[in-house]
Amino acid sequence: MLDFLGNLQRTHMCGALRASDAGSHVVLMGWINRRRDLGNIIFLDLRDRTGITQVVITADAGAELHKKAESLRSEYVIAVVGRVKLRDAATINKNIPTGEIEVVADELRLLNDSKPLPFSPADNDVVNEELRLKYRYLDLRRPEMYQNMVLRDRVAIAIRQYLTSQGFHEIETPILTRSTPEGARDYLVPSRVHNGEFYALPQSPQQFKQILMISGFDKYFQIARCFRDEDQRADRQLEFTQIDLEMTFVRPENVYAIVEGFLKAAWTTIGVDIPTPFPRMTYDEAIRLYGIDKPDMRLPAMSDVKSCFAPENLATLNIDPDLPIVAIVTPKVGELSRKERDDLKLLFGDRKDAKLFEDIKRLEKSFPDAVAKIRDIAKPNPDDLLVLVAGAKADNRQLTTDNSLPVGAPPLSPSVGDRVGNESAAGAPSFREAKGWDSVGSDNRQPTTDNSLPAGAPPLSPSVGDRVGNESAAGAPSFSESSTKRVGNRLSPRDRELLGAAGQFRLALGQKFASKHGAFAQRDFRFLWVTDFPMFEWDETEHRWNAAHHPFTSPHEEDMPILESDPGAARSLAYDVVLNGTELGSGSIRIHRQDIQSIIFKALGMSPAEQEARFGYFLEALQYGTPPHGGIALGLDRIVMILAGGSSLREVIPFPKTAKAIDLMMDAPTPVSDKQLKELGIAVTVPKRDG
Ligand code: ASP
Repeated sequence: MLDFLGNLQRTHMCGALRASDAGSHVVLMGWINRRRDLGNIIFLDLRDRTGITQVVITADAGAELHKKAESLRSEYVIAVVGRVKLRDAATINKNIPTGEIEVVADELRLLNDSKPLPFSPADNDVVNEELRLKYRYLDLRRPEMYQNMVLRDRVAIAIRQYLTSQGFHEIETPILTRSTPEGARDYLVPSRVHNGEFYALPQSPQQFKQILMISGFDKYFQIARCFRDEDQRADRQLEFTQIDLEMTFVRPENVYAIVEGFLKAAWTTIGVDIPTPFPRMTYDEAIRLYGIDKPDMRLPAMSDVKSCFAPENLATLNIDPDLPIVAIVTPKVGELSRKERDDLKLLFGDRKDAKLFEDIKRLEKSFPDAVAKIRDIAKPNPDDLLVLVAGAKADNRQLTTDNSLPVGAPPLSPSVGDRVGNESAAGAPSFREAKGWDSVGSDNRQPTTDNSLPAGAPPLSPSVGDRVGNESAAGAPSFSESSTKRVGNRLSPRDRELLGAAGQFRLALGQKFASKHGAFAQRDFRFLWVTDFPMFEWDETEHRWNAAHHPFTSPHEEDMPILESDPGAARSLAYDVVLNGTELGSGSIRIHRQDIQSIIFKALGMSPAEQEARFGYFLEALQYGTPPHGGIALGLDRIVMILAGGSSLREVIPFPKTAKAIDLMMDAPTPVSDKQLKELGIAVTVPKRDG
């Protein structure tokens, strides 16, 4: 029989009572975390979000009360009226803040019972994740999950307070809108009023925030929900939260300062003071030093040691003299056995475009001078692993003899590749990876042919290097036909390809020897700005240029003249903030002039009619006094995940979806009634799901 709450008022939360409360009369309410029945004495651990208090029902409390306590089970909801008593020294529980006291019950009210549980919130090791997601309300009763949600709240508050103090206003933008190009498929919402027409859920508030700048709001931010219909690889969520901001009359440095300020504020929630300003590195430097656009600086950078070899050495070693020779140092690996070195070859994979020299001592026997110089440049400690990655000579890109890989060696295993290319050490995928604007979701576009590329565009060589950092090692760039052309001292596509391969291998080594170097285990937060990204990426499938960030990104002012003549070499004013190999956010200075926006749309293969149809309103808005502006968006989920020390976004999102894009608790998505479909003017052609 359940009791009513009546007028009973809670006096304390379950984590509140201390020794100094001894003797007080209290009323506690909560869930039964555990019950221990010792016959004449029953212990109840009463739990709420603040902690646990031990409640005691002794035999002298009376038969009725004792009987009631006997009937209680885990997760029943009760109210306890009783008196706080100091525990005997021997029974003090030092593990909980209330461990010096217990509450001796005079009265119990059973407010609700519970079905037998699929799992107990009291257990630390929880069951499979599907069950956790299906019974999310039970999962969220676990203190760990509660703490994660509180952390999320604290982080959001810290960010809001900081931004507000800097003169930002939080402004909401619509959820029902039209397609916003961020490179993913849109979620569409059918209109009942306008049958056959659809809203799109925002992939980001990009155009609205730019419009707000046109409207003179000067500093906008929003903790905004974004929706991207992407294949659910790794730990990605189809709806996620961004800290989205935009500012007027700014250069990238102004955006960096604001982001550094709010990240500093966010990190104080875990008691860490992060040093600012963050280091900066151009995209080219990042590729040169780390082979990836989101460097993990907890491990040493790579170095180009080509200058250490005489030209004839390169010929003997079948090394392509046009490409860098990359030295990779992995700390504290120690001496490797022959078998372990063979494993490195397997990890590197069977590549025709790049060669691995994993046995430096052997190389040293034949090329002592070169290796001495390499050691001078790469500076390995005696117990560090030093390996070289070089380009295989173009006419000799067959398996080579000396350093040839075992025939049939697999490429880097997909799991390694996933960790390396697409996921941070912390397990998060990249935003930028999701880009490649318009590679999907632009059904109304004309297929672009080479003819529609900007007049005067050079023969467009697939710039494989652009994929650096976005591609898993499993899909390692293959033998490249791309050019070695360099603009100034910039990297050529083939440089980037080789450096990318080396960078992936550096990360794979970092993962493989993580327990030896220990660099990932510490609370070491290495933030970084990566700047000057390429403006365009070549889309090999569609054979056209895509915007590397999004099509509203301003080209680098210096590169305006080559925009049309050499799109592959043009840089943008786009930047990423990176932490320990994870991209936390991306942004850019925007195009604020209609003429330039139009050139970019054209470079992306959009005809004037199409520009008008898709972005007419925006091109028009740009003509009414649009100020220079720029901004950025950072993934809140990912930031909280890192702060929580977690490895999955699902741990810090209250109601996440599974990798198959299903909400297991609500059981969404679902079929809808024929009546609803009819109203929306929609005919569904796939058979209905059972049940
Ligand atoms: N809208 C962009 C994104 O969602 C960020 C930005 O450019 O501000 O990635």
